[in-house]
Amino acid sequence: MTEKILPLSEEKLRAAVEKFGTPFHLYDEQGIRLNMRRLLRAFSGLPDFKEYFSVKAAPNPYLMQILCTEGAGADCSSLPELILAEKVGLRGSEIVFSSNDTPAEEYRKAMELGALINLDDLSHLPFLREICGLPEIISFRYNPGPARQGNAIIGRPEEAKYGVSKEQLFAGFEQARAWGVKRFGIHTMLISNELNPDYFIDTARMMFELAGELFAALGLRLEFINLGGGVGIPYRPEENPVDLEYLGRATADLYAELIAGPGLGPLRVALECGRMVTGPFGWLVTTVRHKKDIYKQYIGLDACMADLMRPALYGAYHHITPLGKTGAPYDRIYDVTGSLCENNDKFAVDRPLPFLERGDILVVHDTGAHGHAMGFNYNGKLRSKELLLGSDGEIRQIRRAETLDDYFATLDFTSTPSLFST
Ligand SMILES: *Cc1c(COP(=O)(O)O)cnc(C)c1O
Repeated sequence: MTEKILPLSEEKLRAAVEKFGTPFHLYDEQGIRLNMRRLLRAFSGLPDFKEYFSVKAAPNPYLMQILCTEGAGADCSSLPELILAEKVGLRGSEIVFSSNDTPAEEYRKAMELGALINLDDLSHLPFLREICGLPEIISFRYNPGPARQGNAIIGRPEEAKYGVSKEQLFAGFEQARAWGVKRFGIHTMLISNELNPDYFIDTARMMFELAGELFAALGLRLEFINLGGGVGIPYRPEENPVDLEYLGRATADLYAELIAGPGLGPLRVALECGRMVTGPFGWLVTTVRHKKDIYKQYIGLDACMADLMRPALYGAYHHITPLGKTGAPYDRIYDVTGSLCENNDKFAVDRPLPFLERGDILVVHDTGAHGHAMGFNYNGKLRSKELLLGSDGEIRQIRRAETLDDYFATLDFTSTPSLFST
């Protein structure tokens, strides 16, 4: 069981609603800090552990800065994400650039920052060499194909577009070495939102064994093994979080057996978790705008899937807490919707909730990762603001809401009338 809590009292939350207006995402600095510390402590049995926060989960420099001060690096996969990492002061091996179908300018930026470049395909080795020369250190993303199972969000490794096969991995390292690359790492990312720690332990075993095979076959000594992200969070109250301490201990035991034992260490083991780092420490706060009774009962919010796509995209569950209804019976069944002209714009379907009225405030839980970040402008919908509850108890805006001017910024209206006049 996981208790679905708010980071501040109802009274303070209502004051924030009054001051900033809904909808907004609210993040909890202290929660994020303590969680990051817990992750590092859980993996402290590894000699040189590093967490690279997956920027795509929450690409806000204020949140990234909090994580950086706790020792995290950044996992980037696009030019804007690289620039965000740069803006918060990260450089060199503090940044992993793990992209796919990569444009040349993104490789150039990653090289300029000295980021660790993780190649998604064999063909990217000559591509990178041609556009800006090879760095001293390189890694490949490994896709074990049918050797492993994935899950619903990411699909089966065999069907996934990412990474290289084992044969390609060996060939890639040989070629890289022939072209003067001196230092090497391996990377994988096979699963998303997985709550079973044993899956990650199996992945660690697979990668540590691969390190042994690479040494045996090519005499290659790895400098790092990046196990990717994908650690899940309990979106549903009846689910349990991943036991990080168990996962960290088991990974350290495997490291002792498969890396330190045979003399392949010391090397850095890294994770690039996004969801489990910030996910539970974000909340989407929204107001009931309308109610509607037809064949079903609908609660229409002032937030929509532009603010949180996961329910529409994956049918994902997000817990919802209405403010001021403690003790009220959950005796209504509602679909909780946004205003987009898509019938999947629903935060909840057939959800038991207390009787709700216009003006009620609803809090959608676990929106701190892959929440605001996924938003889009379809149907002319504008993304909400982001607020941060600081460790000092103050609430600050860390991103304003989008405006109509933002929406129209890519259009040039100065010549449009001429299209219609002759
Ligand atoms: C999305 C992604 C992550 C982070 O995944 P989480 O589920 O947020 O932990 C890490 N690495 C890569 C390459 C990714 O694409």
